[in-house]
Amino acid sequence: MKTIGLLGGMSWESTQSYYRLINQGVNARLGGLHSAELVLYSVDFAPIEKLQHQGEWAQTAALLSHGAQQIEKAGADALLICTNTMHKVADEIASAIRIPLLHIADATGEILQQRGVKTVGLLGTAFTMEQDFYRARLQQKFGLEVLVPPAEQRQTVHRIIYDELCAGKIVPASKTAYLQIMDALAARGAEAVILGCTEIGLLVQQQDTAIPLLDTTEIHAAKAVAFALETPTP
Ligand code: GLU
Repeated sequence: MKTIGLLGGMSWESTQSYYRLINQGVNARLGGLHSAELVLYSVDFAPIEKLQHQGEWAQTAALLSHGAQQIEKAGADALLICTNTMHKVADEIASAIRIPLLHIADATGEILQQRGVKTVGLLGTAFTMEQDFYRARLQQKFGLEVLVPPAEQRQTVHRIIYDELCAGKIVPASKTAYLQIMDALAARGAEAVILGCTEIGLLVQQQDTAIPLLDTTEIHAAKAVAFALETPTP
């Protein structure tokens, strides 16, 4: 089995999900008391979040590249950045290490392509919904049309991520708001919705809606399991 490297803590609420899902995935394949070989470097999220909102992305890249190098030194065979948003600096992080980076948007795009989805809704932080590092990658690499909510709803989605989900707060009214925003995306033609923030799965799950959901945490974790066991992603 190969060793998975997790660059986590963004937030630690979702890193817990990665840890559980990867261990469960390995156990589902190997049985018994098998669990994943992994290395976790978990950052202090407060300075990262501050730098994000100040637009100081180069500084976030430097901090995260350092973490990635520690993960490589500790023996990981591949790196996962356990947040969609920080894939904004994925190229900088990838160039600081020699092990491969398993990109969260690529893992998601591959599944959408396999399912034949052409038009997809995207929920995540404002950075993820509005900037090119994520949407353009899905559009250009996977030929997807990516729909995002209008400005006011994007603010709501963003606020709930930082004020509630990253702080471990699950608020029923926020779940209702997310479901309404997803319904509006489906009404505009989205055949599925990407939960493009690694905490959203803590608030909304597939059983809450008939719209097909792509939980990027689950997809990314499954990619890691497949890499570790060198088998195709299910
Ligand atoms: N975990 C979130 C994401 O997937 C947001 C936290 C962050 O800004 O990194 O984008």
